[in-house]
Amino acid sequence: MQGQMMTLPLTLASLLEHAERYHGDTEIVSCTLEGPVHRYTYADAHRRARQAASALTRLGARPGSRVGTLAWNGFRHFELYYAISGTGAITHTVNPRLFPEQISWIIGDAADEVVCFDLSFASLVETIAKDCPSVKHWVAMTDRAHMPALQIANLLCYEELLAAESEHFSWPRLDEQSAATLCYTSGTTGNPKGVLYSHRATLLHTLSSSLPDALALSGRDVLAPVVPMFHVNAWGLPYSAPLVGAKLVFPGANLDGESIFKLFEREGVTFSAGVPTVWLSLQQYMRQHCVRLPALQRMVVGGAACPPALMRSFEQEFGIRLQHAWGMTELSPTGTVNTLKASQLPLDEEARFAIGVKQGRPPFGVELKTVDDEGNELPRDGKTAGALMVRGHWVIERYFGLEKSPLVDGWFPTGDVATLDADGFMQITDRAKDVIKSGGEWISSIDLENIAMSHPAVAEAAALGIAHPKWDERPLLVVALKPGQAVSRDEVLAHYPGKVARFCIPDDVVFIEALPHTATGKVSKVLLREHLRDYRWPAPQRPEVAS
Ligand code: ADP
Repeated sequence: MQGQMMTLPLTLASLLEHAERYHGDTEIVSCTLEGPVHRYTYADAHRRARQAASALTRLGARPGSRVGTLAWNGFRHFELYYAISGTGAITHTVNPRLFPEQISWIIGDAADEVVCFDLSFASLVETIAKDCPSVKHWVAMTDRAHMPALQIANLLCYEELLAAESEHFSWPRLDEQSAATLCYTSGTTGNPKGVLYSHRATLLHTLSSSLPDALALSGRDVLAPVVPMFHVNAWGLPYSAPLVGAKLVFPGANLDGESIFKLFEREGVTFSAGVPTVWLSLQQYMRQHCVRLPALQRMVVGGAACPPALMRSFEQEFGIRLQHAWGMTELSPTGTVNTLKASQLPLDEEARFAIGVKQGRPPFGVELKTVDDEGNELPRDGKTAGALMVRGHWVIERYFGLEKSPLVDGWFPTGDVATLDADGFMQITDRAKDVIKSGGEWISSIDLENIAMSHPAVAEAAALGIAHPKWDERPLLVVALKPGQAVSRDEVLAHYPGKVARFCIPDDVVFIEALPHTATGKVSKVLLREHLRDYRWPAPQRPEVAS
């Protein structure tokens, strides 16, 4: 027997419709490339999204067509998220920090027909346009007065396109399983691969990731997504904010500590999300200028392991909670978020902190397990590390344009190595390719990095497994010091005994000016390895460390 309730498709435009109807006067604030701060409301955003949808339809966008964006976090990008997907076309957010050849490759692979770009990427567009034959229209996301003078034929002005349209576009009724957005993995190994999210998966992700034990978002929040909208849909925040009716604050192109601080202070931001490097630069600014952000309660940190020292510092010095979360492009991206359970609240501060540094537990809709090399499930004892597998409502089934599914017995292999505990908390010990294999033992590069970063002189650190004639690999630590700090190799290494087993202590330390980062803000071990191509272990080596 069938249930007898209404069936309304779970589609993305319904989020903005809801926000207009029930939070129509709530503000959306954007730092713009043209200069002034832009302010309008959810009602304005919905009206302009309908005009943009009408304009895109006139340009030829049809259900299933791909429309690319090369843009920072701002109101026009937000409108396009809804305008493109709302017509049934696919919002393809392209990461503008990639190399031009990678960008044109991705646009070609997706066969984008229209690409909308922010002014900062005008010269990039001029460079790549000839290599993007699928693109029929390039739309500069600005007004006539700021239009760039580009040597490309098919250039349009976003504000002019909107001005020519009425706001009476009505969203078509779409199949909730149809594709809504497309995002490419950063392709640290091989070509990037497209992940094609459906309306349904994204809507379920939005609902579940906003719950109190996940991101805990509400209409009383002032929400600033610092994580870029070209990085897994800014972790879903442009959808969660209209769901709950939170005020939205978009930082635009300036993501340095000072700009973030001033924006958060002025707008009374209560919640934000970003990668650890962003919070490191905010921390440095707040320390240097002895300033605080009294309205800011929580910042979600993910994309790479958050150094426990950074969490502790924000909590103790500034009263701001850094909430650890883990995810991937293939997971829309939320896999886990760290929130204590009722049974853990009575624990003392240190015990709670030890749980808080883990990557967290899955919200409803995600299941996790760890397996050994033969695929056997490992115990959930908080100690045994294995390959992390995931399945759920917003987990990839297959990559865009590729026949072969990556799934193993219905589970997606994440490429991460992790432990799971009886309470459901997951802790990443490494990315499978970054584990340091020494004398048959596995050494967690993340542990070594966290210890280095708890040293007061160290700004950032990375641990790499370097080939070793006897032990297969031994850990090498690469360190970037804070400005004005001087510390020796031995002083850094003296920080390790008692914190990890003796065989895990790095054999050597290399100091460099700054660590290289990937287009998604993570330390790039590929570039580091290139940088250290000629590195040789010092002789004589530390005796028999791995015994
Ligand atoms: P890419 O795989 O191309 O780097 P993603 O942005 O999808 O692109 O990165 C997902 C990966 O980032 C995860 O598989 C994991 O290795 C890492 N990651 C994400 N969040 C965390 C976290 N909180 N702690 C440790 N690693 C993380």
